[in-house]
Amino acid sequence: MDVLQLDVSGRPQAWITTREAAVIYASDGVAWTLGEPCQVLRGGLQRRTGLQSRIEVHPIIAVRGAVPSRAWRQAPALSNNKLFARDRFICAYCGHSFHPDDLTREHIQPSSRGGADSWMNCITACRGCNGRKGSRMPEEAHMSLLYLPYVPNLHEDMILRGRRILADQMDFLLACVPRSSRLHD
Ligand SMILES: [Zn+2]
Repeated sequence: MDVLQLDVSGRPQAWITTREAAVIYASDGVAWTLGEPCQVLRGGLQRRTGLQSRIEVHPIIAVRGAVPSRAWRQAPALSNNKLFARDRFICAYCGHSFHPDDLTREHIQPSSRGGADSWMNCITACRGCNGRKGSRMPEEAHMSLLYLPYVPNLHEDMILRGRRILADQMDFLLACVPRSSRLHD
């Protein structure tokens, strides 16, 4: 499992491993936590007490003094994996769902015609539909979009980037994802 790291004001910063989280606990860097402890890590024997050190890792930790992330003000970086996850692995033209290997990043306004490589100009399409559309605009190809692109906010981006997201983490992140997001469908 991964731990969701927040800054002290509660903004998501990163997914980190339980080992990385343990380092933050051990250096007294955790300001507050959310959720029930989800893993217990055992360290070495403490010289003073002779007891084995023990760190309970929570699914969500806010880190003391963490600098508010610049990512908060920027659109999240675009990647195929996140784009396909945003679009629920469904081709925007034929509406079928596909394995990620059979999906492509389709530029609504083709790159060859100045279309940007951005969240708002990119949509998920299967290889067949992408090939059929070619370097045409959707209306020229008589292919209409079954859903629209949008820019995910930071919380949604963390969900799209997550690997195995625990229920506590999902609840926390989803609460700040707009109702218009497809993650609520
Ligand atoms: Zn298709």
